[in-house]
Amino acid sequence: MEDIYECSILGNITQVDALKLVNSNPFDLFNLANQLREEIVGNEVTFVVNINIDITDRCMIKCGFCSFRDSIGYQMTTEEILQDIEEAINFGATEICLFGGVTPEMTVEYYCNLISTIKTNYNIDLHGLSPWKFSMQQKHQK
Ligand code: SF4
Repeated sequence: MEDIYECSILGNITQVDALKLVNSNPFDLFNLANQLREEIVGNEVTFVVNINIDITDRCMIKCGFCSFRDSIGYQMTTEEILQDIEEAINFGATEICLFGGVTPEMTVEYYCNLISTIKTNYNIDLHGLSPWKFSMQQKHQK
């Protein structure tokens, strides 16, 4: 493990090293990960106060990762989303995770308008909306 530790610090870890780690005793792996964490970032712990906003529980993708699969649930309006953001900021949040399903109306233009409205109204970081979701949305539109 010591040689893998040295290689990791130098950024030279190989596929063989990675396989060795996968097959190692998990406690040795945890120990190695902890050593690396301490060496690279030290012992200071930081965190972000954020809130998840699920824009809708409808989803046409139905990938199986979550239970948002029906078409009878809710879909938040932009005003409702802004209201939730306002509340989150009042609780001290500095980041919003925008999640939820994907519906035919949630086009790239919809997301651009939504993000633009949020950014115009609030100085808050946004996290969410993966490229995969956009690409799946496009596929389902065809
Ligand atoms: S795309 Fe997202 S919301 Fe839809 S089913 Fe998958 S995880 Fe759930």
